[in-house]
Amino acid sequence: MFADLHLHTNFSDGTYSPEELVAQAAKHGLAAIALTDHDTVEGCERAGAACREAGIEFIAGTELTAEQGGNELHILGYFLDTQNGKLLLEISKFQAVRQNRIREMVARLNDLGVPLGADSVFALANCRSPGRPHVARALVNAGFCRSLDEAFERFLKKNRPAWVPKMKMSALVGIELIHQAGGLAVMAHPGLNRTDDSIPGLVDAGLDGIECFHTKHSTATAEHYLQLADRFHLLVTGGSDCHGLSKGKPLIGTVRLPYEHVARLKSKIQRQS
Ligand code: AMP
Ligand code: FE
Ligand code: FE
Ligand code: ZN
Repeated sequence: MFADLHLHTNFSDGTYSPEELVAQAAKHGLAAIALTDHDTVEGCERAGAACREAGIEFIAGTELTAEQGGNELHILGYFLDTQNGKLLLEISKFQAVRQNRIREMVARLNDLGVPLGADSVFALANCRSPGRPHVARALVNAGFCRSLDEAFERFLKKNRPAWVPKMKMSALVGIELIHQAGGLAVMAHPGLNRTDDSIPGLVDAGLDGIECFHTKHSTATAEHYLQLADRFHLLVTGGSDCHGLSKGKPLIGTVRLPYEHVARLKSKIQRQS
């Protein structure tokens, strides 16, 4: 039995609806999945319902955009109470940050002579947690760029002319926010940012786990983080970080986390409640 604990839908910057995502999970024979859309839990209700239909175990989650010591890092939350008032209030602030950032990026594009409308980005995103991939898709759809890669390379990558920095939640605050919503906090894809120095501080703040298995982690990288998980007594997670069709091939099914890790997450949650 295998799980995929890192998945996105069109409630953030993925392209699948929750139902399409669950159909893919069923196709790949997954026993359990977690939905981890950026800074939102909105898709969890529909994904949970589709999983019940399909006989797949569902874990309500999110992926918080956070920072620690000036470095961006992503904190996954699992087993969240998706009705938790404080969680919903805090993530709604970061959704507003994302929406304002879209307007700022569009204003920069306009200054650069690219007459894209913010409304076209919001219409395409059709969610409360829009991001740069939506701007990139709007640029391609309007014919200003030939590909998403070109949109990022010319305009949207860090330090490119339409890039706008994003205000982020403190990682320590993010961990606490996840805990008070009944969840477990896990450091996402540590090998992408290579911010190992921040791990002890996160552990002190109550970090529960670390994502050792990820599409962009080599075998050596996964092994490195398995060792750190052991040293810091962290639970081990993994997922494909599938964004549907937005980044080429759908990645769901490429990372298969043995179910025993899900069982360990669940026993920690049960010990706490
Ligand atoms: P944002 O949260 O708005 O800063 O956007 C981050 C999203 O953009 C993540 O899903 C990234 O994987 C995606 N992204 C970042 N750089 C690129 C790139 N060069 N090409 C395609 N997608 C990218
Ligand atoms: Fe994303
Ligand atoms: Fe991430
Ligand atoms: Zn992700």
